[in-house]
Amino acid sequence: MISNYLELLERRNPQLSEESKKYLGFAKRGAVRMDHMVLALLELSRVGRNPLPPNPVDSATAIEDAILNLAALIGKTDSDVTKDDQMPIVMGDRGELTRLFQNLIGNAIKYRHSERRSVVHVKCQPCEGGWRFAVTDNGIGISSNYYDRIFQIFQRLHGKDQYEGTGIGLAICKKIVEHHGGKIWVESCPEEGSTFYFTLRNWSPNN
Ligand code: ADP
Repeated sequence: MISNYLELLERRNPQLSEESKKYLGFAKRGAVRMDHMVLALLELSRVGRNPLPPNPVDSATAIEDAILNLAALIGKTDSDVTKDDQMPIVMGDRGELTRLFQNLIGNAIKYRHSERRSVVHVKCQPCEGGWRFAVTDNGIGISSNYYDRIFQIFQRLHGKDQYEGTGIGLAICKKIVEHHGGKIWVESCPEEGSTFYFTLRNWSPNN
């Protein structure tokens, strides 16, 4: 509604000075950012609201759905996104797991290195009690000083002029993984790339 009225104000007043148009532009961009932030906060608040369904979820399908949702971004940036052929069945909520992969793969592309094509790979290894997933990119990387901070809400390492974002995406990932009884962490090398790891429980009919 704010955006629509700002738009109307601009269209109905063609005589507005360049300065006023600039201010309206700031206000419109602020309204769009607020919209993204409210939607992300709503999503964060919904994670874990319902108990985890004891469902088997094919992690390959969750990754493929995430890649489909990111098709426009992947196409626009000519990114190379792949996964291992063998991906396990895990316990969980398919929608939340798709969102988890989508946020991690989306970030891997957003924080790509300007000097090379973005390459993202998802793989998985067995670990005690379940599986350890890894989403690896060849992007700008993260200094080890920030490994914990980036999972907190509103913590961003870059200004909004450098990279668009709300600082809520990784907080959503952490909440989803913890809702599934797992852990999430990052390892990275600045200028070379990052790997986001998380664990999920094995699915068995007795769980
Ligand atoms: P947003 O992307 O909206 O800022 P996130 O919560 O998704 O918020 O990420 C928090 C911060 O972590 C980002 O601002 C960015 O600095 C850093 N980050 C996340 N993913 C990556 C990545 N794959 N490579 C480098 N930095 C990353």
